[in-house]
Parts: sequence; C-alpha cells; structure tokens
Amino acid sequence: MDKEWLVTSPKTARTDRPASQDRQDVIIIGAGPAGLSMALGLRGTGLRVTVIEKLAESAITDPDFDGREIALSHRSIEILDDLGAWPRIGDSDKSVLRSAKVINGRSDACLHFDANAVGADKLGYLVSNQAIRKSLHQELAASSDVTLLCEAEVTKIDTGPRGASVTLASGETLRSDLLIAADTRFSFARRTVGISASMHDFGRTMIVSRMAFERPHHQIAWECFVPGGAIAVLPLNDGEASLVMTYTPDEAARHMAMDKEAYAQHAARRLDQRFGKMKPLSRRYSYPLVATYANRFVDQGFALVGDAAVGMHPVTAHGFNLGVQSTQSLSKTIRDACRAGRPIAAMRGLQKYERQHRALSGPLYFGTNALAELYGREDTVSNLLRKALFDTGRSLSPVRKMIMGRLTQTSSQKAKLTAPLIRKERSSYE
Ligand SMILES: Cc1cc2nc3c(=O)[nH]c(=O)nc-3n(C[C@H](O)[C@H](O)[C@H](O)COP(=O)(O)OP(=O)(O)OC[C@H]3O[C@@H](n4cnc5c(N)ncnc54)[C@H](O)[C@@H]3O)c2cc1C
Repeated sequence: MDKEWLVTSPKTARTDRPASQDRQDVIIIGAGPAGLSMALGLRGTGLRVTVIEKLAESAITDPDFDGREIALSHRSIEILDDLGAWPRIGDSDKSVLRSAKVINGRSDACLHFDANAVGADKLGYLVSNQAIRKSLHQELAASSDVTLLCEAEVTKIDTGPRGASVTLASGETLRSDLLIAADTRFSFARRTVGISASMHDFGRTMIVSRMAFERPHHQIAWECFVPGGAIAVLPLNDGEASLVMTYTPDEAARHMAMDKEAYAQHAARRLDQRFGKMKPLSRRYSYPLVATYANRFVDQGFALVGDAAVGMHPVTAHGFNLGVQSTQSLSKTIRDACRAGRPIAAMRGLQKYERQHRALSGPLYFGTNALAELYGREDTVSNLLRKALFDTGRSLSPVRKMIMGRLTQTSSQKAKLTAPLIRKERSSYE
C-alpha cells in the first residue's frame, strides 16, 4: 500500500487538556469511527489535534454493541492496519466473508458474487461496529499527540478565513485553523456552516439482530429480495449470523415489540426455514433508512468526513468503508500541506480532497440508492423490472461490479475491476 500518507514529521507530545481559548491546529467533532480514524491519521504530524465528543468517555472507551456488523473491504482493512487498529481486533471478532449470493423473490436462481473471480480468497471480513470503535479508541489512547474531550457537545460554530471557533454546551470556546466534522449523517456542524445536503428517505426501517442458525451458512452472505422487504444474512463465526430485515416503519414498530422467540420464528419463516431454526443471541436494533449526501464537502477552514459527508444506505455495505477512505484522503492532503509548508486549511488542498472523495463516493451513493429503491418496492413495474434485470444478470453488472470491486480492491489493485464478478447459478443454501 502507498504509505506516503502516513509519512510523518517529528512527533510532538500533547498530554495537556486545552485550556479555554487555547488554539488548536485541528478540531474534529465526533469520536465515531470516522472522527477517531481522522485523528489517528494525523498522529506524528506535530499538529495539535483535539477530538470533541458529546457522549460520556465510557461510551467511547467501551462502546455498547449496536447491532451493526460492518463488511470491511480489503482497502479498509489496510487502512485500519496502518492506523494500528486492525491488530487490536481479536481473531474471534473477525468473521470471514467468503462470497455473497443474491436471490430475487422465491426464484431458485441466484447471482453469486465470488471473490475468486478477482483473484481474492475472500470478499473481506465482518467486524462489529463496537469492535472497530473500541480498537480505534485503544490506539488513540496509546498515543500522546491527540486530545479527546468527552461529554462535550458542540452547540455553536463560526468558520472563516482566520480559522474556526467552536463553543461547547459548557460555554467553553476552542479555536483551530481547521475544523473537521465527523458528527453523523445529520451533522449539526454541516448545517450550521450552511452546507446543504441531499437526503433520500426510503420510508423503510431496518431491524438487525444476532441469531444462531441451525444449518451452516459457510461464511456466505445472502441478500434475499422477498415480498415484504429485503433480508440480509451476514455470516459470523461459530454458526452465528447477523440478520437484517427491512420493514415499513409501522411494521418495524410491531416487530420490535415482538417477543424475541416469536421474532426468531418469524425470521426463520421469512427465510423459508433454509437455515433451519434460529436462536436469538442479541436484542434487536432498529435504524430508519435515510441516505444523505453533502452538496459540498469543504468550506473555509472546514471539512466533512465519514457519514457527515456521505451517509449511505447500508444495503451495499459501504458507509464505513467510504468514511474511512475519506479520512485517509483528507489526512494525506493535510500531511502534504505540512510537508510543503503550506497552511493546512488552504482552500486548494481542501478542494482537492473534495474532488477525490466526490469521484469515489458519487457513483456508489447514487447507484446504491437506485438499487435500494428498485429492490424496496412492491409495485408491478418494479417487480417486472427487477425480474428482467435479474434474469439477464449481466445488466446488474455495472453497479454490482463497482460494488464488488470496491469490496475486494486493495490500494495496489486498481486495475482488476474488469474481471467477471458475477456468476448466475441455481440457489443453494448448502
Ligand atoms: C444497520 C447498519 C449496518 C451497516 N453496515 C455497514 C457495512 O456493512 N459496511 C459499511 O461500510 N458501513 C456500514 N454501515 C455504516 C456505518 O455504520 C457508518 O457509516 C459509520 O458508523 C459512520 O461513522 P461516523 O464516525 O461517520 O459517524 P457516527 O458513528 O454516527 O459517529 C458520530 C459521532 O459524533 C458525535 N456527535 C454528534 N454530534 C455531536 C456534537 N454536536 N458535538 C459532539 N459530538 C457529536 C456522536 O455522539 C457520535 O459519537 C452500517 C450502518 C447501519 C445503520
């Protein structure tokens, strides 16, 4: 991998909590996976970096399980490895994702996305959002050049040619040359700075939970488009899986209220008992499906990363992957500026980051939304279109190729996306 983005200037130890009015070089709002990756990417530059997070410290040092199992692309694993977080995730928390199969309705034909087709032995790994966040925080805690302020909610922001200032709920004000927002897809900072965003509300809610399966899943992910909404089976270690089911909001409320054994039986029935009986291993978590895309990623002294820049529909499993790449791209821009002795917040550098991330995320975002809409609708036209697309198989290639290519692509493998990625075959859960 091109490690140039991690080449550093001498380290400056920062152990002090910034006093009121203290000027930082970089302030990052949000200690989610994107904010933490961004801070780690700036280690060793000598820049004074502070991360501000509204949650209590315990929620960052030891985050709760939130139901999300993140399908990490090869590229994301490389980045996490370079940041020092990947080795901190235990092997038992890494579930191999060998391949993925997509089924349309009750048809016994399926599309098979095979990593072997691009010369890889796996599509990637599934790791819980909880384990990723924890490993990133552990790495941050082991370094002395980033300050993390918890229980500190940003309530006011000013940006301009002379830098940014943020005011916390406590009344404290911090200033910096560059302000980076990693504060969720409904970013307060983005809105306050006056950057608009396109929002796509799918009118659907996703329920996720962990289950033990009676029959083996062979580390294959399944995406089934059945009447009543999509179902995804994400294979975890030891015969466990994450079950992702999509409903209208009313149905979701009803299914969230169900007894957990009854929900497991309902899930097994929706999957035609193909994995046998299911045993609930976690509570259920629900997520309304709203995708967001910021109309600009930068402003004077200001940049967006992670979901604050691009909040993806989870169906193609790219939200975190894009988010961590946005932080890599912005860190490299800042490092380049440091090396060249240019101001880190110079618009030229920030705009370069914006161009790169837009080129990477735009096709994936709009392709994913089109796919999610097509596969989320029940009307006759959508059904016919879906069947036609599915029957030809190849017609799905451009979007699927892009998605698959992004999952398996490493930084040194950019040319491999033309290989055939999809095989059409009969579905078999064995
Ligand atoms: C069910 C589900 C499954 C998913 N599966 C995948 C997958 O397979 N692959 C994949 O790549 N992605 C996946 N994603 C997407 C992925 O989870 C997100 O893209 C990622 O977690 C976003 O990280 P983030 O750091 O940008 O934002 P967040 O995790 O939302 O973190 C933002 C942080 O900012 C803090 N904050 C907010 N406002 C303020 C404020 N005013 N002051 C201070 N702090 C503030 C918040 O407390 C929070 O800690 C999935 C998402 C869901 C919902």
